[in-house]
Amino acid sequence: MRINRNYLNLEDSYLFSSIAKKVRDYKEENPEKRIISLGIGDVTRPLVPAVIEALSRAVLEMRDKKTFRGYSEEQGYGFLRQAVCNYFKKKGVVLSDQEIFISDGAKSDLGNILDIFGTDNTVLIPDPVYPVYVDTNIMSGRKIIFMRGTADNNFLPMPDNNVEADIIYLCSPNNPTGAVYSKDELECWVRYALEREAVILFDSAYESFIQDKNLPTSIYQIERSKECAIEFCSLSKTAGFTGTRCGYTVIPKELIRDDTPLNKLWLRRQTTKFNGVSYIIQRGAEAVFSDIGLSQAKENIAYYMKNAQIISDTLRSLGIWFTGGKNAPYIWLKCPNNMSSWEFFDFLLKEAGVVGTPGAGFGNNGREFFRFTAFGDSEDVQSAMRRLLKINL
Ligand SMILES: *Cc1c(COP(=O)(O)O)cnc(C)c1O
Repeated sequence: MRINRNYLNLEDSYLFSSIAKKVRDYKEENPEKRIISLGIGDVTRPLVPAVIEALSRAVLEMRDKKTFRGYSEEQGYGFLRQAVCNYFKKKGVVLSDQEIFISDGAKSDLGNILDIFGTDNTVLIPDPVYPVYVDTNIMSGRKIIFMRGTADNNFLPMPDNNVEADIIYLCSPNNPTGAVYSKDELECWVRYALEREAVILFDSAYESFIQDKNLPTSIYQIERSKECAIEFCSLSKTAGFTGTRCGYTVIPKELIRDDTPLNKLWLRRQTTKFNGVSYIIQRGAEAVFSDIGLSQAKENIAYYMKNAQIISDTLRSLGIWFTGGKNAPYIWLKCPNNMSSWEFFDFLLKEAGVVGTPGAGFGNNGREFFRFTAFGDSEDVQSAMRRLLKINL
């Protein structure tokens, strides 16, 4: 018997446990001080009324023999896949409901999708980025090449024709940098992928935070992208579903590799290893896409974006370089005074009682940067910023 030894190549994830320990130690030494966290990558606003009503109705349906539901339809209920299609239609993207797969969230799909690709593919991953892409590929032993996000390219690495890759991850808006690719930039990526018959895995978990009407909210707004891209979407950040769990993945019929439609492979994979999201949750998700649901969800997003504005204004007045915050709930700043991201973490905790996330946790290129999230309570964000203005930065 042998274990999957690729797991031994994973680096221990010290990020959140190290943060928690440092905060705990600080609290013990300074019991009177209230710590404010701008480090959480989780939403804090509750589910909107339209969703709660839909969930409640669905619960009641389950108690009646006539309306009770067992196993879901294979790709998710038709009513939800149709609602997703309508949502895409508003972005100018026409999809059929057979191209939509409902899941319990984007993280699972981003990891599971690798089942349908050979392990001898080379993977191209931005650095810094959401750590899931790297770890899931290490687990399956694929060769990884990193592309550097730096202040010079606004943390939006572009294709390099000298680099050969088969699987390309793009996260736009990006976690942790908040950077968003323009249409022109995504066109370059689509061209690069088509030339190499590569596949783009496009993570659009934060698409609903994009405020600038000129920025693409789906890769399918780019011509010929259906021939080379899979898109991963989630209601986690859009509608506060981090605990409720629902996402959707799009695999267009046009996406064919090795003479095989990837849509068909994914359907086979999902029907074998996954039995769907609960009926109740799918009804709640459907309500997100209703007019009233969308407008209520938008209010929560506006709340977070106001926090982002407050953080951005403060950093600007302090003369600290940052990106993000305009079309994403993340603000990514250059640590002042040449501090490393962990030095800045310690400094901020000690001097201001404010917690953020060290950029080193998202890749080597994040070592001099720091992430604030806009997901906190508005009052907390304002007091945190008042504290920042008082210390010597
Ligand atoms: C939060 C997040 C997701 C969403 O994950 P879920 O499993 O749907 O909660 C996906 N990608 C990125 C980059 C994220 O930050």
